[in-house]
Amino acid sequence: MNATAPAHGKHGTLEYLTTRKDELVGWARKFSIFPYPFVTACCAMEFMAVSSTPYDTDRFGAALPRFSPRQSDLLMVVGTVTHKQAPILRRVYEQMCEPKWVIAFGVCATSGGFYQNYAAVAGIDRIVPVDVYIPGCPPRPEMVIDGIMKLQDKIARQHHPLVGRESVT
Ligand code: SF4
Repeated sequence: MNATAPAHGKHGTLEYLTTRKDELVGWARKFSIFPYPFVTACCAMEFMAVSSTPYDTDRFGAALPRFSPRQSDLLMVVGTVTHKQAPILRRVYEQMCEPKWVIAFGVCATSGGFYQNYAAVAGIDRIVPVDVYIPGCPPRPEMVIDGIMKLQDKIARQHHPLVGRESVT
């Protein structure tokens, strides 16, 4: 047995299988996104445009909106969020199962946009963690597709445990 043996032994094989499992699950998950559209304002028109032909988010495995948070893994916050709506947004996020991701769709969701007043939340990342920010007022469909592809890259690179952390320790 030489000095490099442990890397090729049981530990190395387990590491190899874990890496391949993460790649496989990541690949499957990135093409099976189920969005929950939390739509509040005019960005909704752009959301409808990007979901329809010719942009067709179905090509990215992200076409079928679910209107139950329990069946969704992507929260798309589309439009301005007010302080009155903030607890509802948080509740929707908490009802979604893990793993889950969030996209801030448009400048209002990203930063509050030009609504610098007492009513609007200055960015949804004050309420929920955001994975991808899509700028624009409203964002062009190409920008939305670019945001979805960036999220897919992120999903593909993530660690995907199939059992709870406490179960493997
Ligand atoms: S970013 Fe522009 S289009 Fe979108 S909700 Fe805000 S004001 Fe409306």
